[in-house]
Amino acid sequence: WEGTDFPWTAELDNKLKSVFKLNELRSMQRQTMNATLAKEDCLLIMPTGGGKSLCFQLPAVISKGLTLVISPLVSLMEDQQMALELLKIPSAIFTSATSKEEAKHIQEDMVTTKGHLKLLYVTPEKLAKSKRFMNRLEKSYAVNHLTRIVIDEVHCCSQWGHDFRPDYKFLGILKRQFPNAPILGLTATATINVLEDVKKILNIPRALLFRASFNRPNLFYEVQEKPATQKDTMDKIFHLINKRFRGQSGIIYCFSRKDSEEVATDLKSRGIKAGCYHADMTAQSRSAVHRKWLSGDVQVVVATVAFGMGIDKPDVRFVIHHSISKSIENLYQESGRAGRDGQRSDCIVLYRLADVTRQSSMVFTEQTGLPNLYGIVQYCIDVAKCRRSLIARHFGEVWESAQCDKMCDHCDRAQCQVKVKDVTHYCKDLVSILDAAAATQQRVTSAKLLDAWYGRGPAGVKVKSIAAPSLAKDQAERILAQLLVEGYLREDFHFTAYSTICYIIPGPKAKLLRNGGVKVAIDFVQACDQS
Ligand code: ADP
Repeated sequence: WEGTDFPWTAELDNKLKSVFKLNELRSMQRQTMNATLAKEDCLLIMPTGGGKSLCFQLPAVISKGLTLVISPLVSLMEDQQMALELLKIPSAIFTSATSKEEAKHIQEDMVTTKGHLKLLYVTPEKLAKSKRFMNRLEKSYAVNHLTRIVIDEVHCCSQWGHDFRPDYKFLGILKRQFPNAPILGLTATATINVLEDVKKILNIPRALLFRASFNRPNLFYEVQEKPATQKDTMDKIFHLINKRFRGQSGIIYCFSRKDSEEVATDLKSRGIKAGCYHADMTAQSRSAVHRKWLSGDVQVVVATVAFGMGIDKPDVRFVIHHSISKSIENLYQESGRAGRDGQRSDCIVLYRLADVTRQSSMVFTEQTGLPNLYGIVQYCIDVAKCRRSLIARHFGEVWESAQCDKMCDHCDRAQCQVKVKDVTHYCKDLVSILDAAAATQQRVTSAKLLDAWYGRGPAGVKVKSIAAPSLAKDQAERILAQLLVEGYLREDFHFTAYSTICYIIPGPKAKLLRNGGVKVAIDFVQACDQS
């Protein structure tokens, strides 16, 4: 589809320059525009900031009739409308907040072939809940005026994705009602499961897939060990903000609302201009923080994942994850808010085993919750591979370490020696402790298991023949995490009135360790020359 000999090619290239004032197209833009102009249903998967909007705005300008754009957030629509106004492209937003007069105007414009609107933005709620609006669309379609349907953030259809929205499920009706209007779905979510689900829900089984690379060469990916106490963790974060990112704009993502408040309060007490952002705050105070951050009055937003879609600040220099996010997908999206201006920006995860349990207790009820979580644990504990290549693998792409160009902590410490260590006997010991616990009807959490391993903790889970490992605590935790991720151990969840407790039990592959049928090795960083 990258051809330049379509009937519309000359006009497309012409309007790119004269209307959008751009010189050339980016990867996958031409392909997507050609396909949608040829009336094919398509899905465009492109990372945030890649230039998805142009892929429907330019076709809208050179097509007859109206392009309907379904978008989840009014703020996103407003940003786009403002940009379109500057380019003198007629567009409108139709929501429940639209005035009666304006609504009448829009609805008239929709059903006449002389309509002047090129793009009409609506929320999925509008389609799902307003019969009148649906009727108007049917009339528009009947007079051949509804040319194309664009669904922004199309992954919101799927419960498998990270941002499911119930009203998106309703959008399956569009292909049935308007079979000749091509659908163009846009997303930055690239997981195959999600995309297949989206095609099903939208009734576009044969939709063409266009994928732009997800590599963000200007983002530096890094994982640091999170200290055991909150005080030490805050010292570390303060040091980063005060030294490495002094005066620069950034985001800190936290696991819970409570965490985000505590972190923000702590930073403020140390003189950092920090603001908190989570779903328990009023819309007003949230938007106040957002605004202050945009204007530079707030340096750091400390947020839950509620601080997400629609964030479009170009000079975010760092994103720090105070706790691991729940999947590589989430990590990619959240850290992807850094460096939209193309300048180097840093994405740091503070990793500690205790946070894995906190996350797993939240996500284990979701169908893909644990595998997604273990994917990011793997990302955090693997010291022998380029972080960039690990993210690439998740998106079904291959980015070589060479392509990373020292833009992750692994590739940057190329001088470091990574040594492979056989830890099979340690793994056996862990399983023996769990077997001893089971024999005396005891259950252990990961913290208790580690204690028992070091010879502390309750009798019954103490096994005489086992010596305390000659390993630093973080290395012991690494082994435990790796055994979980690889299925030698398993997390077992129990509900109490107040919380979910997560115990560690032998996993499906534990017998391989008991009968000596497997060797387990772990990579350790031995010596480091950061110069
Ligand atoms: P997305 O929706 O994929 O996150 P946008 O559509 O908002 O990204 O585009 C991000 C930025 O890239 C915008 O400022 C847009 O003007 C710019 N852009 C898009 N396509 C091109 C292009 N071909 N050349 C230069 N800039 C572009």
